[in-house]
Amino acid sequence: MVDMDKIISLCKRRGFLFQGSEQYGGLQGVWDYGPLGVELKNNVKQAWWRKMVYERDDMEGLDSSILMNRLVLKYSGHEDTFCDPMVDCRKCKKRFRADQIEASEKCSDGESHDYTEARPFNLMFRTTVGPIADENNIAYLRPETAQGIFVNFKNVLDSTNRKVPFGIAQIGKAYRNEITPKNFIFRVREFEQMEIEFFVKPGTDEEWHKQWIEERFQWYVKLGIRPENLRKYVQKPEELAHYAKGTTDLLYRFFPDRPDEQKQFDEVEGIANRMDFDLTSHSKGGKLVLKDGKVFPNEHAINRLTWFDHETNQHIVPYVIEPSAGVDRATLAFLIDSYHEEEVKGETRLVLRLHPELSPIKVAVLPLKKNHDGIVSVAKGIKKLLQGKAGWRTVYDDTAGIGKLYRRQDEIGTPFCVTVDFQTLQDQTVTVRDRDTMAQERVVIDALPALFSEKLFRKQN
Ligand code: ATP
Repeated sequence: MVDMDKIISLCKRRGFLFQGSEQYGGLQGVWDYGPLGVELKNNVKQAWWRKMVYERDDMEGLDSSILMNRLVLKYSGHEDTFCDPMVDCRKCKKRFRADQIEASEKCSDGESHDYTEARPFNLMFRTTVGPIADENNIAYLRPETAQGIFVNFKNVLDSTNRKVPFGIAQIGKAYRNEITPKNFIFRVREFEQMEIEFFVKPGTDEEWHKQWIEERFQWYVKLGIRPENLRKYVQKPEELAHYAKGTTDLLYRFFPDRPDEQKQFDEVEGIANRMDFDLTSHSKGGKLVLKDGKVFPNEHAINRLTWFDHETNQHIVPYVIEPSAGVDRATLAFLIDSYHEEEVKGETRLVLRLHPELSPIKVAVLPLKKNHDGIVSVAKGIKKLLQGKAGWRTVYDDTAGIGKLYRRQDEIGTPFCVTVDFQTLQDQTVTVRDRDTMAQERVVIDALPALFSEKLFRKQN
């Protein structure tokens, strides 16, 4: 498997990702998605939305705001407890997340660090809303998308006539002031999440939790992640958040070069059974109970977040199963898993064997001769035909010889290339080259939309 350095280098060279604010020396923990990166990331999000929202009959979507009333994050518990343990080195003053210090860490003098006791560091970014920057106007950039879903539970329920079980799905930015952002886009300060809160009747929660763990595992596998690189990790009782009845993390092999096999894997998604913790703490008359036993009765919320069960004639507080995935980590996993280097005719061919649904570009149209009006105009016509009709991202490229153009498309994962040559002008056929097999076939232009539609669609399902 490929190590992270090769991925970072490909991403920079081909325009998947750039360091954020690079022009001014960067900003730690922030990355910008370039022309290919934005396509890949959008495709990851669309694949998730298609499978989790469109292909189910029990899901609604939501796009809630990043800035929220401070009380949302008070009653969610984030204001008091969304912290990581932080230590300083007394000598070099560097700061570390206490539970993530690597054994190889050395102080600037080459000796070991001299660590302080760990103390909690709240990860939320604070800001103020409105023209007066005082304590009364504090707000936070949301540290997860989930809270926007919980506080809209009743709005969605009332506006859709949903019955439990049903879910609300959301994709959006989240911000955490990580103590030590690292490992490329694995741990960053601005990222995106794809989260579902799936509301179920108490008593059915464990069965639903199991189903969701399986459903989410399969989502990655169907999109090309090799099952041997994905693990289910059941959190031990002592690792569980105090409100969780059970959590299974999906771990991907992000760090294949680490000697300890277990450490090669890290979280791409967590699937938690949060019971009624969130709906209760955000409810009028409800209460937030913290890990240390502190209780905050909710004196501010205006609604009870319940659902009326007509079968039992009772208001119930549904339990919640939460599959929470990171878009950036998923994107990174797809990049790592699809990266292949192979020998072809004595040369190294770098190919991203991305699932076609994720490929930033679906088809590249390549003219064999760039100065020939006839060939160029047919090639541009094909680009228009495929782009317009099917909406697949199709590009036209004539900036190098055909061999080089194929290699360029291979390393960004384009599933198909279409080459236009002199024969095209006579019989309206083009060469279609398959990225994975490198096989070439001659096809009439008019048959291209149906051919690609079949090939791309078949792989999608
Ligand atoms: P970690 O233990 O790695 O800090 P977490 O358990 O705090 O992560 P969750 O709060 O469960 O993460 O967030 C859900 C998902 O959001 C994670 O599985 C991950 O994919 C993503 N995520 C969380 N923090 C970050 C981050 N700093 N950078 C990128 N993605 C993140």
